[in-house]
Amino acid sequence: NNIFKAIQTGENVISYINSFAKPLNDLLMGDLFIKIRNQVKDIHTEYREVRLFVATHMHAGDGNVHTNIPVHSHNTQMLHQAEAVVDEIMTLASDLGGVISGEHGIGLTKYQYLSDEFKQEFIEYKNKIDPNGHFNKGKLMPGSGLDNAFTPSLRLVEQEALILESSEIGEINDMVKSCLRCGKCKDVCTTHVPEANLLYSPRDKIIGTNLISEAFLYEEQTRRGVSINHFDEFNDIADHCTICHRCEAPCPVNIDFGDVSIKMKNILVKQKQRHTNIAAKVSIAYLNMTKPWQINLTKKLLIDLGYKAQHIASRLSKPLLKKQPNKTVGNPSALTQLITILDKPLPTDTGMAPLRSLLNINDVGTIPILAHPDKSNADSPSVFYFPGCGSERLYSKIGLATIALLYHQGVKVVLPPSYLCCGYPQASAGNEAKSK
Ligand code: SF4
Ligand code: SF4
Repeated sequence: NNIFKAIQTGENVISYINSFAKPLNDLLMGDLFIKIRNQVKDIHTEYREVRLFVATHMHAGDGNVHTNIPVHSHNTQMLHQAEAVVDEIMTLASDLGGVISGEHGIGLTKYQYLSDEFKQEFIEYKNKIDPNGHFNKGKLMPGSGLDNAFTPSLRLVEQEALILESSEIGEINDMVKSCLRCGKCKDVCTTHVPEANLLYSPRDKIIGTNLISEAFLYEEQTRRGVSINHFDEFNDIADHCTICHRCEAPCPVNIDFGDVSIKMKNILVKQKQRHTNIAAKVSIAYLNMTKPWQINLTKKLLIDLGYKAQHIASRLSKPLLKKQPNKTVGNPSALTQLITILDKPLPTDTGMAPLRSLLNINDVGTIPILAHPDKSNADSPSVFYFPGCGSERLYSKIGLATIALLYHQGVKVVLPPSYLCCGYPQASAGNEAKSK
């Protein structure tokens, strides 16, 4: 009991790693206790992240000591604990004979700590020398302090924390909050091309995302109604990411903006605010198809004929489209998009029919096993080959070549029962339901 009390009061400080985690891990060794060990580790991480510490710095000349208590502004519990610590600091400062002040003024948050006696003295002094309140009107006078503060963020910070804790904006905030703004991710990002004035690096997008989240929170707190423009800006940022995940490797705090973009699209889909262009909609619809006749027909119309039409239009418009539109940020206009589409002619050799048509295995429901009659036997190895949409319905040459390679090696090739998409394009587009 006494030991626990000493630990709780801070009288006896023990090292978590040396005095607790190590002996505990030795005691709970093996797979059987892995869940307990992980849970203890999670509890420690959770508490370590919300530990409060007080940083002090001072002005040696005038004797002011500043105290700073860093908090996660999205954590209400931490905010309340920090307030309690501030109360303790103020009491301690007064008990030690100090005064509540600051070299640039008392400040809105410190007014509550001034004694009634001090306030009364100040009121009398101020009324005597500035009866009409010309100087710093209202400051330190009755009615000042946080309750009537003009700065809304001071009063709304708790509401902000509650909104963040319970909303998806909070999840986005959690994903990007540790960004150091170091810019190490810029070089690898496919949407960061400074020479083309395309400045959508993960760093810039995180700054933009934070600003939009702030705007959402401010409007939610002040009950102004969320502006539809913010959703457009969210769309703009989310669309400027190819979900290549390359930014995670150079990031010292392991932020993968690809995942952030997916989450943003997810929110937009749920809020029915996701804007996708017609080409993206048609492509996703094509990938969602599983019926062979639909896939064959769409491949003919969309890819074979569509590519040819674009090819011809691109060649014909070449003399008219000498000047390229300026690369810029924001949503390009319809004309800019058209010029970009016609910029380079697409190949007209779009290849063969979809894979299952080529192999003549169009009936849905049977699981095809392709085995070489001479080279494979009952003991031959089997490979389950999932061609995915790329090598199944877009570039069937690749799928066919892969199967041929295995087949001629005597390997039995097992295919899925029908045309199937892995769901990644749908997940990347923010459509979680369709990706499953
Ligand atoms: S995932 Fe997005 S933000 Fe990250 S490098 Fe790729 S395009 Fe850039
Ligand atoms: S590398 Fe990571 S921490 Fe640095 S700016 Fe990019 S996202 Fe932020």
